[in-house]
Amino acid sequence: MAGIKPGVLALFDVDGTLTAPRKAATPEMLQFMQRLRKVVAVGVVGGSDLVKISEQLGKTVITDYDYVFSENGLVAYKGGKLIGTQSLKSFLGEEKLKEFINFTLHYIADLDIPIKRGTFIEFRSGMLNVSPIGRNCSQEERDEFEKYDKVHNIRPKMVSVLREKFAHLNLTFSIGGQISFDVFPQGWDKTYCLRYVDEFPEIHFFGDKTYKGGNDSEIYESERTVGHTVTSPDDTVKLCSSLFLGKEDADS
Ligand SMILES: [Mg+2]
Repeated sequence: MAGIKPGVLALFDVDGTLTAPRKAATPEMLQFMQRLRKVVAVGVVGGSDLVKISEQLGKTVITDYDYVFSENGLVAYKGGKLIGTQSLKSFLGEEKLKEFINFTLHYIADLDIPIKRGTFIEFRSGMLNVSPIGRNCSQEERDEFEKYDKVHNIRPKMVSVLREKFAHLNLTFSIGGQISFDVFPQGWDKTYCLRYVDEFPEIHFFGDKTYKGGNDSEIYESERTVGHTVTSPDDTVKLCSSLFLGKEDADS
């Protein structure tokens, strides 16, 4: 674990930072990460689950890095061993979850929008995804809903009602995509994983969506990290080479 720079952790977003969006990492990138690991401790943090992260970084991902944080760290591995798990169910408890889901379904039932389909709430391990039209609408119906929502503010209005009604649950609401919004406890963004790396006085974070509202924004802004914005995997290699390996360009 201890590289030649002890106390330094280089922590990487996965998608868009170590890999092209939704693609697998190149062999060169995987080799580069192993070279980097000889100098500093290396961790990866992605929003998706371990299955998806393994598709992008390889089947041996949990042993290839000092830390692997899937679902923003709700599932945490150190040195190949599972060191922590968290879920919406165990965090909120069944009663609060049910209260939220019941209210949300009632709200959707009373909502007068042109069409409705099915799957209004998708239950994920770390979040609820809520869609007023229903997730199993067609692409054409999605596009129509998005246009309708821009005019009638269906999602923003719904979010403000839920935010007020469930203020005591300290939830974050994030409107994204065309038809839905995500609901999760405050702090369950990528900063969640930082609780596992207290021992490092110097943490460098690298991410591609570090702008306000992007999914790297909170950890990039965190006082615990030195934040770096990258534009591509190549950019990540270049930046890390100059920061940790003492050269402008990576060896090939
Ligand atoms: Mg990214």
